[in-house]
Amino acid sequence: MVDVDYEVDVAIVGGGACGLTTALRAVESGAQSVAIFEKSTRQGCNSQFSSGSLAAGGTRFQAEAGVVDSPQRHAEDLMRVSGDRASEEIVRALCGAAPCYVEWLADQLGYPMELGLDMPRAGQSVPRLHTDVGRLGGARLIDTLRRAVGDAERIAFIDNTPGTGLLVDDRGVWGITVREPGEEKKVRAGAVVLAADGFGASQEMLARFAPDAVGRVYGGVSTSTGDAISWAMAIGAQTDNMAAFLGHGLMVSATGTRLNPSLPLLGAVFVDPTGQRFVEESAQGYSKLGSILMAQSSRRALILWDEQAMSAAENSELMRDSKQANAWKRYEDLESLSAATDIAVDALARAIDGSHDTPGIGAPLRSLAPPLYATWVTGGILTTQGGLRVDTGGRVLRADRSVIRGLYAGGGSAAGISGSSADGYSSGNGLLTAFGFAWLIGQYIGSRS
Ligand SMILES: Cc1cc2nc3c(=O)[nH]c(=O)nc-3n(C[C@H](O)[C@H](O)[C@H](O)COP(=O)(O)OP(=O)(O)OC[C@H]3O[C@@H](n4cnc5c(N)ncnc54)[C@H](O)[C@@H]3O)c2cc1C
Repeated sequence: MVDVDYEVDVAIVGGGACGLTTALRAVESGAQSVAIFEKSTRQGCNSQFSSGSLAAGGTRFQAEAGVVDSPQRHAEDLMRVSGDRASEEIVRALCGAAPCYVEWLADQLGYPMELGLDMPRAGQSVPRLHTDVGRLGGARLIDTLRRAVGDAERIAFIDNTPGTGLLVDDRGVWGITVREPGEEKKVRAGAVVLAADGFGASQEMLARFAPDAVGRVYGGVSTSTGDAISWAMAIGAQTDNMAAFLGHGLMVSATGTRLNPSLPLLGAVFVDPTGQRFVEESAQGYSKLGSILMAQSSRRALILWDEQAMSAAENSELMRDSKQANAWKRYEDLESLSAATDIAVDALARAIDGSHDTPGIGAPLRSLAPPLYATWVTGGILTTQGGLRVDTGGRVLRADRSVIRGLYAGGGSAAGISGSSADGYSSGNGLLTAFGFAWLIGQYIGSRS
């Protein structure tokens, strides 16, 4: 028997939404000892920096609002956008878990949940994004989970202690190595859960696996360096959808902040530096919008919106952050907008005219009238969506679909459900794989501990 420093039922690498929820669910389901090893809460996790929008179909919040939805309808919407039928079993399992954890967050953890009736998104056939009352975003979500973990007797949260590798024998994975300040330690575990997100912060991995993301503004955290994916690949794990990522077409060039993805569905218009519209704004998800924008020769667009769109979109942490950063300007008339952007007044007037058809694109959703808000946006990347191939229990698989014993992955470390590029992402897919896999993995490993 190899000497070890610690021994637990479940060792989790990464303390974001996936890691924290897996731990809570595992102890609820019977695990006696769970340790979460976190690289650095000071640098943060993507869940914390996210908008905290949770996509779920068939919740009581929807029923109370008279919205008819179900996990099946949610799954169909996702696959229509991603075109990824190969992931159907996983998509259905995650969509099945979504209403359970949304209600659990509200009812068990006291998270102030509401249905975002004012959060329309392309590809969602009914309002399905759940968020916090007050719209403070992911920080509040992570605070809620961390508090619950702090109160749980059988969970240890160990900060500033990154996982550094897997401990493997011929039967599978039996533990991990971690770096405590100054020294490396061995942790034996009945189950190892990789919840360390993806590789959005690794230029080297992006260049190798997701070249379309290279050179974009990165809006995620520095800790997402693909560590867990690399360790598992080295022991024969298969990966899927590695070129996919969550892009963003409303990333303000000057400030690096984001605008509310609802704007294109509220009538906002995109024009290129000559004042021409180049996209049917309301028909695209915001990730795909980023790809369309990056395919333009200027790789940027001017986005225009009016008072009506502003009053519907401003109640979000994105717009508050952008406003604080002076990310946009308000123009009282087209002449002042033209002077500021070097775009001719008549081109601007055509672009905001709801009766003017642009060939191949059609007319804007509606006419806009000054005063107008405007800023230059470019395409960003927030998180990667490719990762380790897993089954519906989150068990990591080899290419021949055999299970690597003892090893599980969720959230950004697992292969996502957004197809093979940035275009197939539906709003809420990121946290769906974080919470959804956590729900499934935690229950499974907890009941076997
Ligand atoms: C700006 C932004 C907005 C977004 N908005 C939304 C949204 O509204 N809705 C949605 O569904 N998705 C959204 N996403 C995507 C979503 O945030 C991610 O898909 C999700 O947070 C991934 O969760 P996770 O638990 O896998 O990773 P994370 O929350 O990033 O947690 C991973 C943790 O692992 C730690 N870690 C990394 N390496 C190691 C290591 N070697 N050892 C130990 N710990 C390690 C990290 O420090 C981190 O704490 C957004 C993303 C961004 C960046």
